[in-house]
Amino acid sequence: MPMKVKIIKKFIKVGSLFWIINSYNFVLASTPQVVVTIKPIYALTAGIMEGIGKPYLLLQGTESPHNYNLRPSQAKKLYSADLLVWVGPSMEGFLEKIVGSLPDKELRLLEINNLTLLKVRHNEIWNVNSDEHLHNNINPHIWLDPQNAKIIVEAIAYRLNKLDPNNATNYLNNASKLIIKLDNFDQILNQQLKSIKNIPYLVFHDAFQYFENRYELSAIGAVYVAPDSRLSAKRLSNLRKRIKLVRCLFTEPQFEPISAITENSSVKQGILDPLGVDLPLISDSYFTLLQNLANSLNKCLSIPLSK
Ligand SMILES: [Zn+2]
Repeated sequence: MPMKVKIIKKFIKVGSLFWIINSYNFVLASTPQVVVTIKPIYALTAGIMEGIGKPYLLLQGTESPHNYNLRPSQAKKLYSADLLVWVGPSMEGFLEKIVGSLPDKELRLLEINNLTLLKVRHNEIWNVNSDEHLHNNINPHIWLDPQNAKIIVEAIAYRLNKLDPNNATNYLNNASKLIIKLDNFDQILNQQLKSIKNIPYLVFHDAFQYFENRYELSAIGAVYVAPDSRLSAKRLSNLRKRIKLVRCLFTEPQFEPISAITENSSVKQGILDPLGVDLPLISDSYFTLLQNLANSLNKCLSIPLSK
């Protein structure tokens, strides 16, 4: 934690003159420096720190955390940080080495107790081989379930309280507000997604399993095993068969549409963004991110009423 020098001025009356005595006390800087890897987690952290400070976001552009390279200036930022909040090596593999030299300064979300953790799906259309992305066989996209988000908020607030006890009440108040909001939002999404539960679709990569699991949606496969993997001829022919079974194929904003799969088919196309790449750096962006997913799914999957 960076130290700040607090100057306490004391006024002492000596004879008819006032003398100003400066005494120096070392106190903690009021706000811990928090580095967060991806925008959804940034948004939750920013909500907890509201009125106190702002975290720093590592992946600011459209980069995918699965194949990111840390810039030297960002490495510097990490070394001077008080806390790094990241999902874990199966999500942000680029941090695995550097984290070893940041003992006690990291919060690995995949290791929080009581999270709903889902195993990576194995079949010919989800994930077929063992891949870096499939580390430990737990799907790392844990934030797309608002019930997981509640547990993540609690864990981050707990760490911030320990780092910065002066602001404990603020962190706790912000966190409890956020948790209530997440609960209400979860119920709203549940209502909004009810009518499309059984309609099959394909996603770009297996990033939405937690969202699908929470709202009982019917994704039947992913185009890519990992976002940076190649599409084999066998997988392509498999996908061309599957495309006839689905109403919609969803791509992601960072990646090219896949015309090789959709040519000669009447499948509708939509976009699902698991990271919220275009969203502003504010707490509400977590909610916008999930609302955008629900809107995209509803728009592409619901059948317009026939006249
Ligand atoms: Zn992913």
